Amino acid sequence: MQTLAIIKPDAVGAGKTGQVLSVLEQKGFKVRAARLVRLSRVEAEAFYEVHRERPFYAPLVAFMTSGPCLTMVLEHPDAVAYLRDVIGATDPAQAAPGTVRRLYAESKERNAIHASDSPENAVREVAFFFPEAELRKLDG
Ligand code: ATP
Ligand code: MG
Repeated sequence: MQTLAIIKPDAVGAGKTGQVLSVLEQKGFKVRAARLVRLSRVEAEAFYEVHRERPFYAPLVAFMTSGPCLTMVLEHPDAVAYLRDVIGATDPAQAAPGTVRRLYAESKERNAIHASDSPENAVREVAFFFPEAELRKLDG
């Protein structure tokens, strides 16, 4: 099973990419695809479309386009739910010890990492960043 993760611009900018990846690998995820991208405003707006009416939407889009981020496809038998456990709560102050956000997030907005929140969204989000043909090449 696969899910989408994004190491956000705060963590990439702070030089924490390798440390975040290390936690994810230690927790048992396999990295199946990865690309460093600078999201355009249109891409960030589309990706977080579900939050369009929320007060944090405009600042969230500004933050997500503020620098490069690392988009990744992660694989694990229980990838979606397990990655949500491993990243921790949205607000790092509420995140459990040892979670990625507790370790590396600065604030509720600048919270180091994104993870898909349902199997349906994981399929949508993986396809958003990684066309199927590109993933198939790995096994070819
Ligand atoms: P993500 O979707 O990035 O994995 P999440 O599922 O834990 O995070 P969401 O409710 O989907 O949380 O919010 C998306 C993102 O919007 C958060 O990760 C955070 O960067 C930002 N965000 C959410 N709530 C707030 C808030 N109250 N104030 C500021 N930023 C927020
Ligand atoms: Mg979310």
